[in-house]
Amino acid sequence: MRVVRICCGPYDSLSYLVIEGEEALLVDAGPPSEALVEAVEREGVKLRFVLITHGHYDHLTGLRGLQALTEVPAYAHPLEVEFFREVWPLSLEPPELKPLPDEIYLSGLKVEVIHTPGHTPGSTCYYLKDGRVLFTGDTLFAGAVGRTDFKGGNEGELKRSLKLLMKLPKDVRILPGHGEPTLLERELPMLRALTAP
Ligand SMILES: [Zn+2]
Repeated sequence: MRVVRICCGPYDSLSYLVIEGEEALLVDAGPPSEALVEAVEREGVKLRFVLITHGHYDHLTGLRGLQALTEVPAYAHPLEVEFFREVWPLSLEPPELKPLPDEIYLSGLKVEVIHTPGHTPGSTCYYLKDGRVLFTGDTLFAGAVGRTDFKGGNEGELKRSLKLLMKLPKDVRILPGHGEPTLLERELPMLRALTAP
């Protein structure tokens, strides 16, 4: 398994191409569609689907252009599929998101879905146990956690979600929707302080 980071576009949002064999999945679609398409072509892989961490527009702006070229489905948590249309701020039509399937595999590589509400109701982290990688969207960053002051945000829910992530192995690599990658171990002191009763 390999992960290619795709940067960045007007909102500094990151997407990640996860490659297993000759197939790939994309986590989020914030960079311009040209950057997403270019990465897929450069790697010479077949893009199977897109997994959306949450429906804020800065994670979705490249999706429609990508889907215009390839009929790739984009999945998000069922709660987010409804919610994101309520907070869509752009005059452009929002893209179409489908609810996550029960099981997600890429060429035999299992993707675990961890529902982590708090930043938005359907925020989701995607965990690849085999690669020790966690895609956290806007739930957890290097040195910070997601904002809860947007519509649909909830601080109590975010804390419960962070406690779920704290149970993962310490050496898990965190790949967030903005900024630098980090390790769970490095973020644990901050997470313990934030979730302390
Ligand atoms: Zn967000």
